[in-house]
Amino acid sequence: MSFSKVAVVGAGVMGQGISQTVASTGTEVELFDIDADHLSLSIKSLSDEMDREIERWGMTSSEKKAILSRIKTTPNLTDAEDFPLIIEAIPEDLALKTSLFSKLDKVCPPETIFVTNTSTLSITEIGAATARPDKVIGLHFLNPVPKIPLVEIVRGLKTSDETYEKIKEFAATLGKTPVKVFEYPGYVTTRIIVPLLNEAMHVLMEGVATAGDIDNAIKLGYGFNIGPLALADKMGLDVVMDWMENLLNELSDHKYNPCPLLRKMVRAGHLGVKTGQGFFKYDSDGNRLTEE
Ligand code: NAD
Repeated sequence: MSFSKVAVVGAGVMGQGISQTVASTGTEVELFDIDADHLSLSIKSLSDEMDREIERWGMTSSEKKAILSRIKTTPNLTDAEDFPLIIEAIPEDLALKTSLFSKLDKVCPPETIFVTNTSTLSITEIGAATARPDKVIGLHFLNPVPKIPLVEIVRGLKTSDETYEKIKEFAATLGKTPVKVFEYPGYVTTRIIVPLLNEAMHVLMEGVATAGDIDNAIKLGYGFNIGPLALADKMGLDVVMDWMENLLNELSDHKYNPCPLLRKMVRAGHLGVKTGQGFFKYDSDGNRLTEE
């Protein structure tokens, strides 16, 4: 099923990628963010990312123009009131997400479907903040959204079959292969990748090898196309730490305890590609500057 127009809330790494992907199918997108400056920066960052794709021959200038012409931005949440589908991509914080959906519930018509891109939080709990838990569902895109062919469709306890079927068809219109997941902290992808990222950080912290060598070992040794430390940098170290804390909180399993090095880097504001400094250094276009 395709929707006539889609609202995306949160113009960060994921909101930008989701907006581009949805707009590339010919659908009009309204992109919201609480931070107006961030909103205009997000369009510049999307445009720069598409320019890099054009340089790699992955897209044409006219495709870029068409995509950008379909993405409008607004800091005003009430503009979402007549959208049939809302996709949320704000930070991984349950209180933030429930407060947002409870506000949206009051302004949107009862048939609007609410999608969350959460990586670890409970769809049932997010749905409970609304009067339409049957129309609340998780659609877990991975970063970079336009390139990753997978999406996890996460059902909460009250998500209806009708909502699931509509969102499954929507995922197909975006060219994504869906994996059906029943709600459980971390679903499939986040739960499996997080311990690997954390272990790589422990190996670095314990001085076993340099960041570059750890990533090369995993890439070349196991056929990954990106090393765990570069992957964490791309995801955002603050985002990875939020995932771990949510998993630790839900499951009380020590394996989800964030590595002290990760905590230290987040406290220092070294968040990875988006701040230019994580396990590696990056320029403002996101190109890696350091190998070690
Ligand atoms: P981000 O920090 O890059 O962006 C979040 C955006 O939300 C910011 O622009 C912020 O200004 C905005 N925001 C904050 N509160 C808001 C509100 N109340 N209303 C509107 N906008 C608000 O985060 P991200 O990496 O894009 O992650 C967003 C979500 O996607 C999280 O739930 C995360 O777990 C999930 N996710 C992230 C990745 C990844 O690799 N980064 C992958 C899959 C899923």
